[in-house]
Amino acid sequence: MTKQLWAPWRLEYVGSANEQDGCILCRANEGDDEEGLVVRRGKHAFALLNRFPYASGHLMVAPARHVGELTDLEDVEVLELHRLAGQGLGALAETYGPQGFNLGWNLGRIAGAGVTDHVHMHIVPRWAGDTNFMPVLADVKVLPEHLTESRRKLADAWPA
Ligand SMILES: [Zn+2]
Repeated sequence: MTKQLWAPWRLEYVGSANEQDGCILCRANEGDDEEGLVVRRGKHAFALLNRFPYASGHLMVAPARHVGELTDLEDVEVLELHRLAGQGLGALAETYGPQGFNLGWNLGRIAGAGVTDHVHMHIVPRWAGDTNFMPVLADVKVLPEHLTESRRKLADAWPA
C-alpha cells in the first residue's frame, strides 16, 4: 500500500461539498475572524485555517482578491502572500513545534483543488511518522471548538 505524504486535496473535497453559498475564501475574507477562521489579515492577502485540516495548524494563504489564475496575481499580492506564508511558519513553529512543512498550490480540480477559482497556498506542518495517522485524521470530524482554539493560538503567536 502506498503511503501518501502530501494529499490535502482529500480534505478540500470535503470542503467543496458545501459551495452553494459562493466562494468560501471570499466569505472568510469578508466575515469576522472567528467565523472564517482567519488568523491574519494583510492589505492584499490573508491567512486562515483550513476547516478540514490535514494536520493540526493546516493553514492557507490567499489573495484578498478573487483570482483564479496564479499568473494573474499582482506583484504586491505575490509579495504579501509569501510574507504571510513565512510568518505563518513562524507562528506554527512556536505553537505546534513541527519538524517540517509542506507548502504548495493545488491548481485545478484534477490537481486536487477544492476551491478552483480563488488561488490559495497550503501550509501543512509535518512530524516524523505523521503519514501513519493522517489518513485516519482525515475521516475524523474536526470540532469547531478545536479550530477556534487553534485560530486564537496562531493569531497570538503570529510574528509582528
Ligand atoms: Zn473568492
